[in-house]
Amino acid sequence: MRTLLDAIGNTPLVALSRVTAGCHVPVLVKCEHMNPGGSVKDRLALAIVRDAEARGVLAPGATLVEATAGNTGVGLALVAAIKGYSLVCVMPEKMSHDKRSALRALGAEVIITDNAPPGDPKNFQMVARRIAEERGAFLTDQFRNAANPRVHFESTGPEIYAQCEGKVGAFVAGVGTGGTITGVGRYLKGRDPSVQIILADPAGSRLAGLVNEGALGAGSSYLVEGIGSSEVPQVLDPSVIDRAEVVTDRESFEMTHRLVREEGLLVGGSAGTAVVAALRLARDAGMKGPVVALVPDGWDRYRSKIFDPAWMNAVP
Ligand code: PMP
Repeated sequence: MRTLLDAIGNTPLVALSRVTAGCHVPVLVKCEHMNPGGSVKDRLALAIVRDAEARGVLAPGATLVEATAGNTGVGLALVAAIKGYSLVCVMPEKMSHDKRSALRALGAEVIITDNAPPGDPKNFQMVARRIAEERGAFLTDQFRNAANPRVHFESTGPEIYAQCEGKVGAFVAGVGTGGTITGVGRYLKGRDPSVQIILADPAGSRLAGLVNEGALGAGSSYLVEGIGSSEVPQVLDPSVIDRAEVVTDRESFEMTHRLVREEGLLVGGSAGTAVVAALRLARDAGMKGPVVALVPDGWDRYRSKIFDPAWMNAVP
């Protein structure tokens, strides 16, 4: 019998048509917001749980603990619901209230931490680790779990390659854990080493410096959620990335609005970041094939932020 879990993946790849002035090649978006949980993270939620089941580390009815920007939590919550596990989500204060209420509605316990840097005992990943130890629960650990990049190598990458009939000029994505860009990048480069893998990084993240200059850049705070980092996440393989494009919050959110209004794509802020970077590449006369941007999640998570005019006006 098919379940909702069979509806994860095999998302559409569609061409942008109205925001593409000046582009020499098509700009295509991989619509990960059309997964059942509304984000790319459904893929790794299912992969992490299946991998843990296969390794025999998940007893029936076990509790999962995840440090999440929100989307992995939603993916894990629906997988947990169907498979009969409990879920605790540890989320930094920065993340939208829409995400908190979605997770609570899905039956997860939600614990909010300070926006503390990596290594600080109050950091969301440190808190998740402590709670998993205290409760004897399974730490899903998307930042370290090899099942994360693997699922993108085995599903997202091959889907994009097939949907483009083998003709990809560049692939663009942001990095949260780095699972998406590492898995898709490795797959596409394995098929065609000339494919460019481009990091779309929020201004304020330190990763663009690492990719373009060889050392982490200066960091500062920014508003776009789920991408960028002040350290190199464990599952990220920076060697797969050719170059980084830096995108400001305002550029990201204005593009998100354009994608909704002009393209009918009901997407979130990090989609704007990826598409701004993709359009820059597609306007470069040297780009030979289509540019593929990954759309990580949908707009419903940001109603009280990007889609609230008062909030949007205050974005620097
Ligand atoms: N966009 C959003 C909104 C996310 O929540 C995430 C994951 N935290 C990403 C992009 C980045 O994906 P990945 O973790 O595979 O690098």
